[in-house]
Amino acid sequence: MLFAHDTEYGLIATAALVNTTGDHGEALPDVAALDAFFAAHGWTGRHEHTDAELRSVRDLRPRLRRIWHAETDEIVDIVNGLLREAGALPQLVRHDDEPYHLHAVPRDAPLATRMAVEAAMALADLVRSGELSRLRVCDHPDCDNVLVDLSKNRSRRYCDASCGNRAAVTAYRARRAATRP
Ligand SMILES: [Zn+2]
Ligand SMILES: [Zn+2]
Repeated sequence: MLFAHDTEYGLIATAALVNTTGDHGEALPDVAALDAFFAAHGWTGRHEHTDAELRSVRDLRPRLRRIWHAETDEIVDIVNGLLREAGALPQLVRHDDEPYHLHAVPRDAPLATRMAVEAAMALADLVRSGELSRLRVCDHPDCDNVLVDLSKNRSRRYCDASCGNRAAVTAYRARRAATRP
């Protein structure tokens, strides 16, 4: 493991949230979709199942996506802003089956606030480790998904939306077309 488990988890969850909008369409169209996302990414704590909650989660995404395209100083501004706005106060906690990890806002804080703070805490780790180059955009030309390259040799090029397979198929077709008489 490259980073603390909650850092890696936070980075992956943040990329997944960013990728709910973009070239692949809107993946959080309604409250039910947010419920599914909440469950799929192991979120616990306050969850209101309301349109207002959905809106605030959706509104957070452009700010988080920006991080994947920004230089270090701007990333630091965004991260500090997210922590400041939430009144973040890091505390080590243990709940459910998870080992001790950091929470910086209470579990009954709004979902979008907790998502913002989890992202900011994980990104703060990445900044301090000088590892921002791990934040990458999918190499597939038709995909704007973001990814976090947590591989040892920094070899990850594609997001999880089967872009690696799509790229392989495209390359295969191109090779076949080129060798056709
Ligand atoms: Zn937790
Ligand atoms: Zn992709």
